[in-house]
Amino acid sequence: STISNHMPTAELQALDVAHHIHPFSTQEDLQKKGARVITSAKGVWLKDSEGEDVLDAMAGLWCVNIGYGREELAEAAFRQMKELPYYNTFFMTTHVPVIALAAKLAEMAPGDLNHVFFASSGSEANDTNIRLVRTYWQEKGKPEKKVIISRWNAYHGSSVASSSLGGMKGMHAQSGYIPDMHHIDQPNWWSEGGESTPEDFGLERAQQLEQAILEIGEDKVAAFIAEPVQGAGGVIIPPSTYWPEIQRICDKYEILLIADEVICGFGRTGNWFGSQTMGIKPDIMTIAKGLSSGYQPIGGSIVSDEVAAVIGATEFNHGYTYSGHPVACAVALENLRILEEEKIVDTLRDDTGPYLQEKFRSLAEHPMVGEAQIIGAMGSLALTPNKATRAPFKAETGTVGYMVRERCFANNLVMRHVGDRMIISPPLVITKAEIDILIERAWKSLDEGM
Ligand code: PLP
Repeated sequence: STISNHMPTAELQALDVAHHIHPFSTQEDLQKKGARVITSAKGVWLKDSEGEDVLDAMAGLWCVNIGYGREELAEAAFRQMKELPYYNTFFMTTHVPVIALAAKLAEMAPGDLNHVFFASSGSEANDTNIRLVRTYWQEKGKPEKKVIISRWNAYHGSSVASSSLGGMKGMHAQSGYIPDMHHIDQPNWWSEGGESTPEDFGLERAQQLEQAILEIGEDKVAAFIAEPVQGAGGVIIPPSTYWPEIQRICDKYEILLIADEVICGFGRTGNWFGSQTMGIKPDIMTIAKGLSSGYQPIGGSIVSDEVAAVIGATEFNHGYTYSGHPVACAVALENLRILEEEKIVDTLRDDTGPYLQEKFRSLAEHPMVGEAQIIGAMGSLALTPNKATRAPFKAETGTVGYMVRERCFANNLVMRHVGDRMIISPPLVITKAEIDILIERAWKSLDEGM
């Protein structure tokens, strides 16, 4: 029979596990529990094949910023598919959706970030960045400037190059590791700050960049890349001293600064870009996810006038079949129109954001929560058996985060866990009533996870 939403859940799950390899999952888990089958969605709500309504406090994978079910985006895709479903911009051609989106992004991005190279994902965009910064330094007559410095626990994508750039050791172990990448520690004061103040700790962690540059040699370092707020590494909001020091060091040693805005971009931190929230001036920004609110796969690199001018002096030997895909561009443009016209980022910054932050911080009163950190609409709870010492749960307790996440899921709330940190990153359109439901379900799940 035809495979459809009308099939019994167990049959869909059996076919799924038989033929579909899931990202970041084990076959054993899938076999034991069966994947939850999501059939439709609206606003912040997912519907599953059993008819349950699930509050998606992760906006999919941190991407559905405008919420699910916006028909305008479907119509934009339909119109574009009828008119020009595909063309590329290799070899002296272009098309209107790509021109319009590049111009729109140049207008929105801060400073002189005025030039966009498109990809279909954040991983591809970060691969682009590796080639971009190396080409940049070759063209500047410094081809030995190749090393890119990043941070442990950073997530910059899943391709072999972007995962080497990232700092997830489990990924390095499986895929191998491309050379000329170097990692420094993350500014995670809660777990690693010990007795120091957050401010001192932020400075100390930023100064690791300077030490690394001096050790490697400034004539060998091309760029530093970081997420303004580390996302998949656990929503690590850096102490206030961190970013100003990083900016100072990049300026001093002529190191290109790449802000990976794949999560932080398009409103997540309460401004259009995380770089604005953190007060930094990157030379390159990686974008994806919220650019189309996940309705189409699209990402890119936005670069400064200077970087574009240097790269433009040569042929950039780089491009994806779907770079600047017209349908993805049309959908992204419509998404940006909605974000702007409905003042979604302003509402988050001035109204629903402060409400969400206050409610989320109240979860720190739960006996198992050591700290509740939140900026804009991205937050994390550090789970601990001892709030005073900020101790982690012992390994033999199992991953408490995993257990709490399972309880959330059973209570129809999607939260994610990273070790013993619980994460939220809901659609930016979440209402106050929905925030109340989120907090209530999170508290209940924490109680059950103890
Ligand atoms: N960079 C950051 C900061 C991310 O969070 C992600 C994905 O989560 C990526 C890059 C990779 O993006 P994609 O999954 O679209 O390849």
